[in-house]
Amino acid sequence: MKIELKDICFSYEEDLPVLDKLSLSLSGGEMIAILGHNGSGKSTLSKIIMGLLEPSSGTITIDDVCVFDNGNLNEKAYDLSRSKMGIIFQNPDNQFVGVTVQDDIAFGLENRRIAHSEMVERVNKYSTLVGMNEYLLSNPENLSGGQKQRVAIAGVLAMETDVIIFDEATSMLDPKGTKETNEMIKKLKELDNKTIISITHNLEEAVYADRVIVLNNGKIVLDGTPKEVLKEKDILEASGLKLLDGISLINSINDLNINKKDELIDILWELTFKM
Ligand code: ADP
Repeated sequence: MKIELKDICFSYEEDLPVLDKLSLSLSGGEMIAILGHNGSGKSTLSKIIMGLLEPSSGTITIDDVCVFDNGNLNEKAYDLSRSKMGIIFQNPDNQFVGVTVQDDIAFGLENRRIAHSEMVERVNKYSTLVGMNEYLLSNPENLSGGQKQRVAIAGVLAMETDVIIFDEATSMLDPKGTKETNEMIKKLKELDNKTIISITHNLEEAVYADRVIVLNNGKIVLDGTPKEVLKEKDILEASGLKLLDGISLINSINDLNINKKDELIDILWELTFKM
C-alpha cells in the first residue's frame, strides 16, 4: 500500500503544533522504524496514518486516491484504506476481548464476517507463525506480556492487512517479552508486500528496519537506511535519543585519521548489528 502524507499539520490544543508541515511517502512492502523521544509526535503520526485522527491541514493520498485534502475527507475511500491497516498498541492488556486466545485471534475476523472454515484456518496459521498455537484454549490473562503481544500480532496478521503498525509495542514489556516481540517483528519482514511501521524510542529496534525516520518537534529530522541514520550522532542526540554503544564505537573510529577506515566501519557494523 502506498501512503503519502503532504504538509500535515496537527495540534490537540491551539498554538501547540504536534505535527508541523510533515511530509512522508511510504512506498509499500517496507519495514519502517519511526523514532523519536516521548512526546515527539510518533503516536499522533501513527493515528493519522491509521485514520483515527484528522489533520488540521495537509493532504493524505493512499494508493493514488486522495482521502484527505485540507479539511475535506473522502470518508468512503478512507474507510476502505483503514480496513487494510492493523495496529498493535503498547499495553498488551488493553487488546484482549476474548475468553480464550483463539477467540481473541478470531475477533477481527468475526467482525469482518469471514466464513467459519476460513477463520479456523487463519487462526491456526497465524497462531503457529507467532509460536502460540499450543495456547489456543488458554485465557489470555494468564499469559506473559511477550506472549500477549504475540497473540495481538496473530490477531492483526489474521486480518491479512497490507499495513501493520507497532505503536511502542515493547515499551511495557520486560526484557524477555521485548526480545520475543522484537524477534516476531523481525520475522514479519519475510512476509511479502506488507508495510510494517514500528514506532519506538529505542534505537535498537531501528537497526533491522529497511528505513528509519526520526521525528523531533513534529518534523522529520532524519530519513534513510539504519546505517545512514544511526551514524548521525549530533542530530540523534539533539532529538533526545540515546545512542547505542556499538554506534558510539563506530563514531569514534570515524573521527580517527586511519587507513581503511571505511572497511573497518563496515566490518564493525556487520559484527554489531547483523548478527
Ligand atoms: P509520542 O508518541 O512521540 O510520545 P504523542 O504523539 O503521543 O508523542 O504526543 C505528542 C504531543 O501531543 C505531546 O506533547 C503530548 O503531550 C500531546 N498529546 C498527545 N495526546 C494528546 C491528547 N489526547 N490531548 C492533548 N495533548 C496530547
